[in-house]
Amino acid sequence: MIYADNAATTALDADAFEAMKPFLLAEYGNASQPYSFSRPAKKALRNARETIAACIGAQPDEIYFTSGGTESDNWAIKGIMHDHDGQAMITSQIEHHAVLNACAAVEQLGFPVRYLPVDTQGIVAETALKHAITDNIKIKLVSIMLANNEIGTIEPISKLSAIAHEHGAFFHTDAVQAVGHIQLDVKQFDIDMLSASAHKFNGPKGIGFLYIKKGTAIQPFLHGGSQEFSMRAGTENIASIVAMAVALRKNCEYLHESTAKLHRMEESFLQILERNTIDFLYNGAKTRIPGNINLSIKGTDGEMLLHRMDLKGICISTGSACDSVNTQISHVIQAIQVPDEYARGTIRISFGTQNQESDAQAVASALIEILKK
Ligand code: PLP
Repeated sequence: MIYADNAATTALDADAFEAMKPFLLAEYGNASQPYSFSRPAKKALRNARETIAACIGAQPDEIYFTSGGTESDNWAIKGIMHDHDGQAMITSQIEHHAVLNACAAVEQLGFPVRYLPVDTQGIVAETALKHAITDNIKIKLVSIMLANNEIGTIEPISKLSAIAHEHGAFFHTDAVQAVGHIQLDVKQFDIDMLSASAHKFNGPKGIGFLYIKKGTAIQPFLHGGSQEFSMRAGTENIASIVAMAVALRKNCEYLHESTAKLHRMEESFLQILERNTIDFLYNGAKTRIPGNINLSIKGTDGEMLLHRMDLKGICISTGSACDSVNTQISHVIQAIQVPDEYARGTIRISFGTQNQESDAQAVASALIEILKK
């Protein structure tokens, strides 16, 4: 089996798994209890918060543990858009559904939401934000993803957050695809909130965090006990939090090497495709998440390719899905205006650090064999 769908999820890092074990077995104390048996759990929680904060340039008390990217996005959006003072928010057309559907929920509550278009590379233009933010309604929140999960495009976050701040709006970024994959610093970006999810950077599933800059006026997400500075109640998942910190620290430590390795895989893959004169569009911008390859291949069908690749033991993803009548093109592929004859044949191959160059070559050869048939 070749797993080439690392944008969907990643393999759990072996050290991260080892780090979980004590907290699932011997050290099962509740971190909120005052007795000495709970001390290791409490200490592990503190250390994990410090490690994660250091990886993204934050302070430890600006890191709030959540159940993952979806929760972090929902908290950032609903926690800001909560009081009816006639304010609106802005996001982009290519956000993950965790953001788009949270926006739909706040729209239902009566907060207008503006959806910025992107160019053909998937970039949100500064001018588009300037135009949307300066007219008559007060914007309270701007939420633009750091990197797109389908096409890997990295957005000009510092420039967009500067525009938001000039107009008195908070800035949130969904960085689920970026954390652990590119160098980032929340202070350099000058952002107010950032969402992350451990299973995208070799941590466990069902755990993530929301960075909230000190002083950001946001509502608590879950009411109950005083965990997470009384902002997100519930007994902490210490084992997963510890594993997330280990995985992120390792990813950040080896970022340089893994980026170079992923670029070599991309090159190998694309060279094989080009040598075989396949008619395809390479979607996304030049500044993209390493290892993410999104292709729209002319005259074929993405879902068919996914299943044929599956039969060959290769996991990839598609940007189009068929029901019995229609082919549904993803909202991202539509937003970047991929022509119809290419859009139907959209696939995403996302390599990870556990892949080798030989995997990239094998995936390309398998794809060509299927296309030639
Ligand atoms: N945001 C982006 C950009 C994602 O790619 C994903 C997952 O695919 C999410 C949010 C949701 O994260 P989680 O699976 O941790 O809820």
